[in-house]
Amino acid sequence: MTHWPKVVVATPAHSALAGPLTYRSELPLAPGTLVRVPLGKREVLGVVWESAADSGGLLEMQTKNIAGVLDGMAPLAASWRALVSFTSGYYQRSLGEVALAALPPQLRELTGEQLARRLKRRVLDTSGAQDTADLPALSEQQEAALAEWGAESHGKNRPALLFGATGSGKTEVYLRLAARVLGQDPSAQVLVMVPEINLTPQLEARFAERFAHLGSERVVALHSGLTPAQRLKSWLAAHAGHARLILGTRMAVLASMPQLKLIVVDEEHDPSYKQQEGARYSARDLAVYRASTQGDCRVLLGSATPSLESWQATISGKYQLLTMSDRIGANSETGGLPLIRGIDMNHQPKHCVIAPPLVEAIQARIARGEQSLIFLNRRGYAPVLACHDCGWKSECPHCSAYRVFHKIDRTLRCHHCGYTERVPRACPTCGNIDIAPVGRGTERLEEHLSELLGNIKRPDGGAVRIARIDADSTRLKGALQSQLASVHAGEVDVLVGTQMIAKGHDFRHITLVAAINPDGALFSSDFRAPERLFSLLMQAAGRAGRDAARSGASQMWVQTFHPQHPLFAALKTHDYPQFAAQQLQERQAAGLSPFGFSALVRAEAKTQDLAQGFLNAAMASAQLAGLEGHDRISAYPAVPMTIQRVANIERAQMLVESASRTALQRFLAAWQPLLLATRKQGDFKSLIRWAIDVDPLAI
Ligand code: ADP
Ligand code: ZN
Ligand code: ZN
Repeated sequence: MTHWPKVVVATPAHSALAGPLTYRSELPLAPGTLVRVPLGKREVLGVVWESAADSGGLLEMQTKNIAGVLDGMAPLAASWRALVSFTSGYYQRSLGEVALAALPPQLRELTGEQLARRLKRRVLDTSGAQDTADLPALSEQQEAALAEWGAESHGKNRPALLFGATGSGKTEVYLRLAARVLGQDPSAQVLVMVPEINLTPQLEARFAERFAHLGSERVVALHSGLTPAQRLKSWLAAHAGHARLILGTRMAVLASMPQLKLIVVDEEHDPSYKQQEGARYSARDLAVYRASTQGDCRVLLGSATPSLESWQATISGKYQLLTMSDRIGANSETGGLPLIRGIDMNHQPKHCVIAPPLVEAIQARIARGEQSLIFLNRRGYAPVLACHDCGWKSECPHCSAYRVFHKIDRTLRCHHCGYTERVPRACPTCGNIDIAPVGRGTERLEEHLSELLGNIKRPDGGAVRIARIDADSTRLKGALQSQLASVHAGEVDVLVGTQMIAKGHDFRHITLVAAINPDGALFSSDFRAPERLFSLLMQAAGRAGRDAARSGASQMWVQTFHPQHPLFAALKTHDYPQFAAQQLQERQAAGLSPFGFSALVRAEAKTQDLAQGFLNAAMASAQLAGLEGHDRISAYPAVPMTIQRVANIERAQMLVESASRTALQRFLAAWQPLLLATRKQGDFKSLIRWAIDVDPLAI
């Protein structure tokens, strides 16, 4: 008997082939089976989505045969297919694009036999029991959080938010919960998600060590830093249920884990959970969705500074709130958190980069053999190079942005398109040889610090050791790991860096953290900028005094020209709830997330007019057609993006908002075909690309 399976393949985002394609097969194929199918002149990987008994009216002659079946592997479960369908619908991308992107790339190259060989080689060591003797005794707050979580597990399956100060021992709570879930059910799987795995090598080690008794192949990592072969191996282990604990970044949320019972999302507020290309999904939001739809699976979000979306959900009762306010081993009134000192830069010497009292405080730390961390969220030497005679600035010829001056190799580099040139000897416009850096990045700060601190001696009489960690210093493979290791080993006295050093690290000897110039974000047009700044500063503060013995004396210094800003008042008292309340009030008044929903449609073209014209025309036809939901959304006229031109391409965006998530969803789904049709009209044919970003991070 002939069968007519419908197969999804990786189709371009907005092609006419977006739905499953019908093929022909002599054997029945269960939904979720991986197959190889002909597509045009190629043969590609596909997933059987439905098995149909007839050809659905297609001419049988024109229907091609399935080329091969990857039958060594169990079909992808219905729950996984449901997750992919939801992701594709919610984020307005094709099913095939989402499904295929969720599979490890190497799977595309394997034949059925090759896959079968890989699966056969698998011999698993048996798992032993966990040795509970060396586990640390839990703090009262950790006990309470675990008990509250446990109290709900039989009732309504609400997501929980662990609101725990930096150093309060959230990771230990994750470890205990994971152990509990894995212990209760010998087939259960646990997914632990982290924002960027390479920033926290410690965490991976901690999980591997704690669950070593399961056997080495039972704990796997899934992230983009793996080789294709490693990624395939981890993915297959998760799919087969061999992997019991999966530690991964955002991509892991879409992995096949048929026995998934617990998802932990660490640092749930982190922007890197949002995918910034292709299907722009939020892995945090998908984790919540996945737990709510995949049988008895629960999700725990954790953060010291939760996203306002998650925080609001605890206020409305949608999420359970678990709180741990004190650092482990804390005995002081501050809960062991560092003292926050604001420095009013209006009262410091003009043009000083680091206020004299802060310089003294750093010097004192060096003399005592303690570490300081100096945080500046801008890499390079100086953001701009300028001629003061004629006003020339180091603009990128291809972007509406300045090229950054990197002194180390004397280049001007565009951080948007990558265009790099040697620094000119003289001003390209007027010939003045006195061109000078304007502003300051980490490279220049490092140089400045060595001038300020050069003659300070360490307790052993040695010279001060300054190091810098940012995207430039860590370009080479393994560089970040070794630089972090030398900080941990106490081989660095003063560490300068970008947000890479502010996040997550469990540095034990840092007693002073300083934010040099955080003001930019206070007046940004991006409504999430204050939230991000607050969380970054709290995270940075969290790097100080992680060793309980030193936590009493630890400090965070913040230099600002706006000491009266409410953000700093909340920061001083480590009062996230106060900060959140104030922000939520503003957002409610403005109808912004989490009180309103939005999507951005972006378009790129040779000219700004064309990009904007396309968006405006597509919206006009939506209004004209009276699309479903059009009366419940507000659309704003298209505007240039903040960085309007990148690599000679003009970029525009249109904001679409609604008080109703459903109305917005329905509108977007109905609008897609019109966007496609508009693109086929006249000049719009030359549009380079367009895409929808649902729940965008910045609008
Ligand atoms: P967070 O993730 O909340 O910032 P961590 O989980 O990294 O905090 O914990 C901070 C430090 O406290 C870590 O070094 C951890 O090993 C230690 N720790 C956590 N829980 C306990 C405990 N119950 N007893 C002793 N030390 C603990
Ligand atoms: Zn000049
Ligand atoms: Zn550029």
